[in-house]
Amino acid sequence: MALLLEKHDIQAIVAEVGLAELMDRVIDHLAEDFGRWEGFDKSPRTANHYPHGVIELMPISNEDWYSFKYVTGHPRNPLDGKLTVAAFGALAEASSGYPVMVSEMTLLTAIRTAATSVFAARLLARPDSRTMALIGTGCQAEFQSYAFHHSFGIDTVRFYDVDPDACRKFARNMAGHPLRLVRCDSIDEACEGADIVSTVTADKANRTVVGRKHLIPGRHFNGVGGDCPGKTELASDMLADLKIAVEYEPQSRIEGEIQALPADTPVTELWQVLNGTAPVRTSDEDMTLFDSVGFAIEDFSVLRCIYGIANDGDFGRRSTLVFAPDDPKDLYSELAVPALPKRVAAM
Ligand code: NAD
Repeated sequence: MALLLEKHDIQAIVAEVGLAELMDRVIDHLAEDFGRWEGFDKSPRTANHYPHGVIELMPISNEDWYSFKYVTGHPRNPLDGKLTVAAFGALAEASSGYPVMVSEMTLLTAIRTAATSVFAARLLARPDSRTMALIGTGCQAEFQSYAFHHSFGIDTVRFYDVDPDACRKFARNMAGHPLRLVRCDSIDEACEGADIVSTVTADKANRTVVGRKHLIPGRHFNGVGGDCPGKTELASDMLADLKIAVEYEPQSRIEGEIQALPADTPVTELWQVLNGTAPVRTSDEDMTLFDSVGFAIEDFSVLRCIYGIANDGDFGRRSTLVFAPDDPKDLYSELAVPALPKRVAAM
């Protein structure tokens, strides 16, 4: 029977393991999975677009496991009290196709997205980066800051959001962490002196959250919020100056900042940077971009990580969502259908 993990189970896992340790473990799983990239059966996600958002299905598999995530991207949802990004997903054993775990993935997406940003920054940013500008302080913001502080070494976060309530929420949630927080009144102010600029905004439009004036030698851009056709955050005329890494080129051509580039512009995938075949940053002066859209392998990694923890511990509950009957050729008995009454012949 599959393990069913709901919100309270993820809360219990984070309480027991600690978010810092969990981030590190997810980063380790990412490194392992990106490191065996060629063993995965990959495809761009399926996206169904609506005027105010998108619903996406993200499958991936290797010879042992199959995973998928169902995820929404509806930037106007918070006006109705709902999340912009909400998700659930499953991990299945390839041998039988049976799911071993069905899980909440809204929290897991925030954790894996932050872990992936740090994983990419370790490959692309200057290792001595200490100050990060954070543009957009919605749901992903604290996870990004936490991960960049704990797992990368960022000590100052200069933050800005068009919504003052989102700024206040971020400051409240991050208070007490050993981070210097600088609330800024504009994007320009937030970017002052930043080694890394993380854009984590939500708007279903091609926006110029950052532009050419934000190109500073050595700076790394962590572009998280541009993840759909017609939904970008960087001015297209700055892309030629950046050395860019993407997750999975066929998906990023459709959804990433690079959708603005001619289709034959060469780009590097993160796994190639990891295995050393295509280094991106070659000097402290280079300006780099992690053009993140969120790829299924990251969900695979976090699901694998969480499954290991949940399986070893006492988390979640066994569910009959998918089941094996006593006799695998007898499904009918599972319904215990009473015999039909005798047909009475029509008079
Ligand atoms: P959210 O709606 O909770 O927060 C987005 C914030 O951006 C809001 O507070 C909003 O006021 C702010 N914002 C919008 N336009 C802005 C602007 N021009 N300047 C400053 N702030 C602005 O959304 P979220 O869950 O935090 O997600 C943020 C973005 O990240 C979304 O676009 C989402 O699709 C994307 N995302 C990407 C990945 C990935 O793997 N790349 C994963 C998760 C989410």
